[in-house]
Amino acid sequence: MPFRNLALSAPILQAIDEAGYTEPTPIQAAAIPPILAGHDLIGIAQTGTGKTAAFSCPILTKLSEQPHQGPRRAPRALILAPTRELAAQIQENLRTYGKHLSLRSASVFGGVSERPQIEALRSGVDLLVACPGRLLDLHGQGYGDLSAIRYLVLDEADRMLDMGFLPAIRQILRKLPRERQTLLFSATLSPEIESLTREFLRSPRTIEI
Ligand code: AMP
Repeated sequence: MPFRNLALSAPILQAIDEAGYTEPTPIQAAAIPPILAGHDLIGIAQTGTGKTAAFSCPILTKLSEQPHQGPRRAPRALILAPTRELAAQIQENLRTYGKHLSLRSASVFGGVSERPQIEALRSGVDLLVACPGRLLDLHGQGYGDLSAIRYLVLDEADRMLDMGFLPAIRQILRKLPRERQTLLFSATLSPEIESLTREFLRSPRTIEI
């Protein structure tokens, strides 16, 4: 099946073509249609399966079709990831697939200076990639407005739980609008992950690759 059957926006299809991808991976073929249709989703998939594009491309499509409101440009998509390496890699993917769109992204994670991250947030972004601890720190200082988030991704949710991020994730989720689409990706579907999905997702579709 070619990518163009997936109803992604034309600038994204062009970027995918330029990346040299010829057809969607199984997780992309299974996840992109329900995400575009607005469903919450549980994706059970390992890294290396193409899961980053599976959530990035439909979210970029939706954001490109809905211009941001107001002068502040508060983020409308939040992607939570366990490590700074993964957060940086996700933002790199957003740049690749969104290169023909005029959407802005930033990533925030610990272990480096807060200043450039604060500056990026202040200048306004559409998509925010974040490690939970640093996001809460910055939010506590008044940066990282979460009131406009319509799309939430919990990437490598099992690793985030293993690393003890559950209390931070709960705190962040309490600050998000209830009206949103939530996507959770995990390598395994443990009882802890199932209870997280019951807490935070609404009538999710489940895809296991
Ligand atoms: P991920 O599982 O998201 O970390 O992606 C693993 C690797 O697969 C990344 O290097 C992507 O650039 C690449 N990739 C993602 N989707 C495709 C595709 N449809 N065809 C070829 N490579 C892909």
